[in-house]
Amino acid sequence: MSSISKKIIHRVNQLKLQVQKASYAYYVLDNPIMEDSVYDQLYRELQTLENNYPELVAMDSPTQRIGDKLDSQFASVAHNIPLYSLDNAFNFDELRQWEIRWQKQLTTLADFDYVCELKIDGSAIALTYENGILVKGLTRGDGITGEDITNNLRTIKSIPLKLQIDNPPPIVEVRGEAFLPLQEFKRINQEREKNQDNTFANPRNATAGTLRQLDPNIVNQRKLQFFAYNIHLEAGNYLIDHQHQALTFLQKIGFLVNPNHQVCGTLTEVINYCNYWENNRQNLPYMTDGVVIKINSLALQKQLGFTQKFPRWAIALKYLADEIPTIVENIIVNVGRTGAITPMAIMKPVQLAGTTVQRATLHNYHFMEQLDIRVGDTVIIRKAGEIIPEVVKVITELRPENSHPYKFPSHCPECNSALVRPQEEAVTRCVNNSCPAILRGSLIHWASRQAMDIRGLGEKVIILLMEHKLIKSIADIYNLKVFEMAELERMGEKSATKLIRAIEDSKKQPFAKVLYGLGIRYVGAINAQILAENFYNIDSLAQAKITDLEAVYGIGKEIANSVFEWFSIEQNKLLINQLKSIGLTLHYLDRQNTNVNQQSLLNHKNIVITGTLPTLKRNDAKKLIESVGGKVTSAISSNTDYLLAGEKAGQKLDKAQQLNIKIISEADLLTIVQKINDE
Ligand code: NAD
Repeated sequence: MSSISKKIIHRVNQLKLQVQKASYAYYVLDNPIMEDSVYDQLYRELQTLENNYPELVAMDSPTQRIGDKLDSQFASVAHNIPLYSLDNAFNFDELRQWEIRWQKQLTTLADFDYVCELKIDGSAIALTYENGILVKGLTRGDGITGEDITNNLRTIKSIPLKLQIDNPPPIVEVRGEAFLPLQEFKRINQEREKNQDNTFANPRNATAGTLRQLDPNIVNQRKLQFFAYNIHLEAGNYLIDHQHQALTFLQKIGFLVNPNHQVCGTLTEVINYCNYWENNRQNLPYMTDGVVIKINSLALQKQLGFTQKFPRWAIALKYLADEIPTIVENIIVNVGRTGAITPMAIMKPVQLAGTTVQRATLHNYHFMEQLDIRVGDTVIIRKAGEIIPEVVKVITELRPENSHPYKFPSHCPECNSALVRPQEEAVTRCVNNSCPAILRGSLIHWASRQAMDIRGLGEKVIILLMEHKLIKSIADIYNLKVFEMAELERMGEKSATKLIRAIEDSKKQPFAKVLYGLGIRYVGAINAQILAENFYNIDSLAQAKITDLEAVYGIGKEIANSVFEWFSIEQNKLLINQLKSIGLTLHYLDRQNTNVNQQSLLNHKNIVITGTLPTLKRNDAKKLIESVGGKVTSAISSNTDYLLAGEKAGQKLDKAQQLNIKIISEADLLTIVQKINDE
């Protein structure tokens, strides 16, 4: 024990406590304190540490037992055959490793296949039938003993009280999952809300809570269901030597068996099955939290046997997690092109919703202060809008000893000038105009696809050119020479020539793109388009008063102020003059295709407008649609992609519905446009 670092011992103890606490809340109180996926990962970490340091495994560790000891009012009864848990896999790699693992256990391997079943999120139940009559029904409990809830189970219609079997064997043991259909779960929670009772966190907890009701009448009112998936027969000649036959047999003798099981010959078929249900489980009327993969042959199952906790012949593949814990390894701050300081957490890489995540934005000073996030903390992360990783919570119970609160920098990490945080704003800023980070960000933005689209002028090249002092402003890009760049490392004459050509081509980019490229605060691609259309050229825009700007539909006070301010700065006036002499397009040509975003949701889409929109005039909606590449047409046909419908939409709405055309509201349109604008 002495060779194990204090840090590891501390972590193991913390994890043990945290997992125990969660386990108790989940199994005993039916009121979980964290997402299953978070629990699973903390449990995994504890298990891995215990595997690496077996001296640290304590008898009371949650990894050493199934479930949690219940503080129950029901009689505790020993199971005829222990009820095990299931080993978990969180991705297909782990599934493949499981296949290798069980195959290694065998000296010879004959043909085999698997049965895939949906993992129903309810409570495991063991039923005993004596001479075909239900005599006992137990919860799983700790796997060795369960609670006797026979009377409650008798209320479940899909549990036969008598088996449909002639001359039944003296003892039949059936296992399966009791669960609440989603609709019933919703109804119960609505009722509880009405009665000001605590609602259930999920159908599993509602099932467990219902099964432990002392009054069977209440159980009877809640329409529990039961899917059977396992049978043990003491005697009889029933020809059941495969799991799929057991399922068919269970159905024959009166049980409800989940119809969505499938025999799979290979792991590839198993993976296809899992992928299918990952995408289609939302359509099921009950909750599933994964897929259980079982070896089909019962003889092979017998050969492989059990570990202390689970069968070696089965595994549960859990669906992709929405939330997951990880550890903060560092906190850094980024300086954006507007000087905004964005703190970021650099974390131990984890798989989240299909990608490896290592960074998450911490937004701003206030957000960090609220979270009190520190280096070394275990945090829960998720993907906002299923895309951007964000930190949801710090698990303070898992905080390392001697951790320090994070000190937000007072000076810019790039130029060391003092940072500013205006009282009314959440953002901290570097306000040094010559900060290299701000310049770098502005140049990257200028060359980006949505702005001047200069291919080959990405972040790395910009950094290289800045390091060699070849560019100090946007205008310098247009003075670059092939011979200067050709000498730079990783560049060469060919790339330099290509880049100069791309820079030259960018001069033809339309006015709106130039405006967007200038990076004026609040002027995204759509606003740039609106400004270009309304002010026609750079001089009239530069001379516009705040009131002129505000008078334009779509340009609010903040944007107007920001544009006005930008054009009053000497350095920016100089830049505009330089851009004029370079020969960029600084005036609006009618109906230029700004190509705002080729991939955008509305690009090349035909849209029909009908009815009265709540705030937009027809023409404004049309302009908005066109600004993101859409086309407004007047009649509904099979070529129509969307119908933008407002109040009193008449025949067009009926026709669109008949043709199965997507119908969107003004709010939908504004959200889509905003999203495109933000990309
Ligand atoms: P498990 O839920 O991972 O898997 C075993 C169970 O799967 C069986 O007991 C059975 O009830 C069920 N099952 C459903 N369909 C099945 C099928 N077709 N075939 C076989 N079994 C099927 O294991 P567990 O030991 O019951 O619970 C551990 C899990 O509970 C954890 O992985 C975690 O997700 C969750 N948990 C969460 C918290 C929390 O705080 N959120 C705490 C403790 C446990």
